[in-house]
Formats: sequence, C-alpha cells, structure tokens
Amino acid sequence: MTQNRERNEADALRQALYAAYVIGRSWTERGKVADYIPELKKAHRDDFGICLMKKDGTVLSYGDVDTRFSMQSISKTVTLAAALDKFGFVKTFSHVKMEPSGDSFNSIIKLDTASNLPYNPMINAGAIQVVSLLANELTFEELLAMTRAFCMDDGITLNRAVYESEAQTGDRNRAIAYLLKSKGVLQADPEKTLDLYFRMCSLNVTARSLAGLGLILANDGRNPFTGRRLMDPRYIRTINSIMFTCGMYDGSGEFGVKVGVPAKSGVGGGITCGVKGRMGIGVYGPALDERGNSIAGIAALESLSAQLHLSVFDYAEELFG
Ligand code: GLU
Repeated sequence: MTQNRERNEADALRQALYAAYVIGRSWTERGKVADYIPELKKAHRDDFGICLMKKDGTVLSYGDVDTRFSMQSISKTVTLAAALDKFGFVKTFSHVKMEPSGDSFNSIIKLDTASNLPYNPMINAGAIQVVSLLANELTFEELLAMTRAFCMDDGITLNRAVYESEAQTGDRNRAIAYLLKSKGVLQADPEKTLDLYFRMCSLNVTARSLAGLGLILANDGRNPFTGRRLMDPRYIRTINSIMFTCGMYDGSGEFGVKVGVPAKSGVGGGITCGVKGRMGIGVYGPALDERGNSIAGIAALESLSAQLHLSVFDYAEELFG
C-alpha cells in the first residue's frame, strides 16, 4: 500500500517535471544568450535542462542537465555564505545592505546617489563588496571547495576561457569596485577583489549541481546524503530570505509572486531554487529575458510551482513531500 503510494507520487512528480520541461523548452527561442561577456555568446540558445533533487535521494531530470556552464551570479550565494560563516551576521551586514534595489544587476546609479553601501549581496555591487571582505581572508581554492560542497559536485572547476573573457571586458564591474573604493567602503584592493569575483563567476556547474545547491539551502544547510552540516541554519535562513527578495535581479518581485520560492539566477543561464524541506531544483537555459534571467527556466519553474504548490505562501495542501 505504502509502496504503491510512493510509486504514484514518484510518477506524478515525474509527470509534473516533464510538463514543466516541455513548457520551458517552448520558450527558449524567445530569449537571447548573454553577449556582454564575449565567451558567453558561445552558448546554444536552445539548450534547456531541469533537475529536481529530494533528500530521500530521488533525482529526476529532463534535457541538458549535465552540460557545464559558468555559474555567474549564482556564486553570490556562496560568497554571502562564506562571509556569514567567517564574520557573522552583524559584521557582514555592516558592509552591505539587505534591500532589493529594483535596478538591473550591474547598475551603479543608487550606489553613487542613494547610498554608500550596496543595496544587497545578490547584485554586482553588493557581491563585489562581500568579496572584498573575503579577499584577504580566504583563497580562491577555499571558496571553490565550499562551492563544491554546497553543490555536492566535486567536478566543479574554473572555466578559464570565461574567466579571461570576463577579466578582459569587465569594465563596469571595475567601475563599481573603484567607486566603492573611492567611498572608502571596499575592504580589499580592487584588483584583488575583482580577480576573486571574476573567478567565482566563472565556476563551471550543471543544472544537476544547482539542484544540489538548492537542496542544501532547502535542508537548513545540511547535506542530506552524508549528514554533514555545511552552515549554521540561521545563516541559511538569511541567505534564503535575501534570495527570495533579491535573487532574480529586478524580476525578483514577479518571480516571488509567480513561483514563490527562494532562487538565484546567473547570466550563464542557470537558476538554483530551494523549496524548504522539500527539494532543490536546478535549471540550465542560456536564452535570457530582458532582465538577464533564463526565460525557459522561469517558464518551467512557474509551471512546476503551480502543479506542485511550491510557493511558500501556497494555501493548498502539499501534494508531494
Ligand atoms: N559575472 C557577471 C557580471 O559580473 C555576473 C552577472 C550575473 O550573472 O548576474 O556581470
């Protein structure tokens, strides 16, 4: 009886994921691959994959879930985690705020006019500021090890071509770092900070690794397969809250309403989502909407959330554990 129920649930979950995948794929042609980092132009617009991972070991996936691509802004979750772990809540947030900016991810406007401190750690200015806190304390190798642990993926390495492409063309991020320095708030040498920031953005992940990251975030910072605790659950709560309000660039409000789970996207086409206590979801779809979010990824997540009642504000009973 229980076995039958489990089988029915697994089938229903698989069907829901497949329906979401089909919807997502139908959107890819409406998006555009990022081109402001030259190396990212090489991505295939039609690629799309989605992976769902549960703490009982269930892993379901469709499409291009093992294609490696650079995690870009999704690394901002890891650098925030590292800062919270190293410096605690009070010190970290004395260097960066926790408010949505409503501006695009690489905007510089509010930083110069409305505030000396960046609005939040999920936009470029805030992440560069957080990385400046880390730059004199942790090596790239230590942050890489942390990323591997959070994604449960030892195959993550630096994508050197993306790193070099970004380092050569990242003048806007350079402008942000030097503006922060001019205001006396940057905590390390700008070039050292930017180098670490570019390296973190250039880590090669897969949709499967992003499902792993989502699952760790959904599971209060514990690896469900080894039992290892990676982070104090209070900090995971902070990271999830900031992802919810700021993780999808200036589309975070709409995503919060339509999908309703903490998520972080990157211009490489990735999205990671953690559905509290239930599952991690990872997406790869390099065709982006005008805000820089994976267009197919958003469509698929909207569908999955509606089918499985994933929103943290959902009134319906949970259908699947
Ligand atoms: N490395 C990218 C940049 O700094 C990250 C942007 C993103 O994924 O939002 O422009």
